[in-house]
Amino acid sequence: GSGVPAFRVTALSKRYQGFPALYPLTLTIEQGEAVAIVGPSGAGKTTLLHLLAGVIEPTAGSVEVLGRPLRALAPGRERSALVGVMHQQFDLVPNLAVIHNVLAGNLGRWGVLRAALSLVRPRHYGAAERALERVGLRDRMHERTERLSGGEQQRVALARLLVQGPHALLADEPVASLDPARADALVRLLVRMAREDGHTLVASLHSVTLALEHFDRVIALREGRIVFDRSANEVSEELLAHLYEFEPERTAAEDELEATVSQ
Ligand code: ADP
Repeated sequence: GSGVPAFRVTALSKRYQGFPALYPLTLTIEQGEAVAIVGPSGAGKTTLLHLLAGVIEPTAGSVEVLGRPLRALAPGRERSALVGVMHQQFDLVPNLAVIHNVLAGNLGRWGVLRAALSLVRPRHYGAAERALERVGLRDRMHERTERLSGGEQQRVALARLLVQGPHALLADEPVASLDPARADALVRLLVRMAREDGHTLVASLHSVTLALEHFDRVIALREGRIVFDRSANEVSEELLAHLYEFEPERTAAEDELEATVSQ
């Protein structure tokens, strides 16, 4: 592609009711890169992904996608052509056929029904069928989605995203609910699909092993800051030990703030 980065993030920060989830952060993600975001729970991974997707507003700073300010893109079609989120399997409609969940694309739940009932054009149907073929589920396309295993449902969610075909694929803990063998298979598939289609991929992962094994680059967050940002083959045991070392004691003020916020 052109030299324009997939994401240009400038002094991006996020506070929730004053609580700093992400301190000002600047980074660039090139087109076609496969980037894993790792770090302990509460580090800010989901927050960063949601900011990249435009699902939440930053407190300060900016995100550019392919050189265009995310804020300036209309939330509907314009934005979803550039950025797509692979939602957890829980966002699928359980009692619909697999193919209809894939067809639903980014239409939302009511859209699912309309797609299923009337708006299905053959062109879209063909694309959904091909996406299911690619994730190895073509023979399951007429089954009710709820009859598939957790890993298979994640593949349905991936197929749905492939049909949308946004420039950048974002996945928030895509394998959180899977056992290690299935998690490895799904991450492998996700990265392969992204590479085949030339998509930029950014995924948050709990497992550093999976990140190192399958991704080009690993960005580690801890307490809202970048601890390291390296190509996967440059990440040492030492860096990882630092990332996951014992959490410092929270201050009484932090406890109080959380108590206030959760009321
Ligand atoms: P991760 O995905 O790494 O587990 P998150 O981005 O979900 O981290 O959260 C980062 C921090 O922000 C955590 O301390 C979390 O409790 C807090 N947080 C996340 N979402 C909200 C919210 N909607 N309101 C208040 N605090 C939040």
